Amino acid sequence: MARTLFISDLHLSAERAAANEALFAFLEERVPGSNALYILGDLFEYWIGDDDLSDPFHAIVAGFFARTVQAGTPMYLMHGNRDFLIGDAFCAAAQVTRLEDPTVLDLFGTPTLLMHGDTLCTDDTSYMDWRRTCRAPAWQQEFLSQPLTARRAQMLQWRAQSEAGKQNKSAQVMDVNATAVIDALNAHQCRRLIHGHTHRPGRHALEINHQTAERIVLADWYTQGSFLEVTAQGCRQHTLAFI
Ligand code: MN
Repeated sequence: MARTLFISDLHLSAERAAANEALFAFLEERVPGSNALYILGDLFEYWIGDDDLSDPFHAIVAGFFARTVQAGTPMYLMHGNRDFLIGDAFCAAAQVTRLEDPTVLDLFGTPTLLMHGDTLCTDDTSYMDWRRTCRAPAWQQEFLSQPLTARRAQMLQWRAQSEAGKQNKSAQVMDVNATAVIDALNAHQCRRLIHGHTHRPGRHALEINHQTAERIVLADWYTQGSFLEVTAQGCRQHTLAFI
């Protein structure tokens, strides 16, 4: 049966071996035979530039992806807020195709809006300000021109600041804004949205202009793995135990 798979928010790093092993097993055991695998952002805990591919862990991940694609399942990668600096060199090594955020995908006849999800969190104004800053080409050029060690130190500092900042933000502020969700679905004439980012997996029924709509939120890979499987019959979330 034709099936399309979605994952997000793996937050991979060399230190989290259980998540890495679960991903590699997923790619070898669950992905073959599917139509496509979509990664909707935050594949990595952070990404400081494709020249960091010399890190053996990054090369291992790229190798698993390339083998998956060669075995017959195309893979698509959307940037998240942690790994928005993933560029052409990583995608070429991993043989994955970059996906814009947002992207509309025809999924078995249902136009489906794919997003990472951070742009829906419009109540978090300090994050939205930071996003505008770090997504500007001039800012990225300046950051990438620094030596790897300086970039890593800077990124770790931002992460610490971000974690500290979250202590002062309510859960509601860090979730999606209901109006932003409806606006995004209307702008792209979709009635189904799949996103990650919030780490609040779920399936939410919506009503827009007297039509039913739905928002599916993918799970993170902190304590277990997870993927969404979509077929012509519908959507199903699966979990993957960490060993
Ligand atoms: Mn995110």
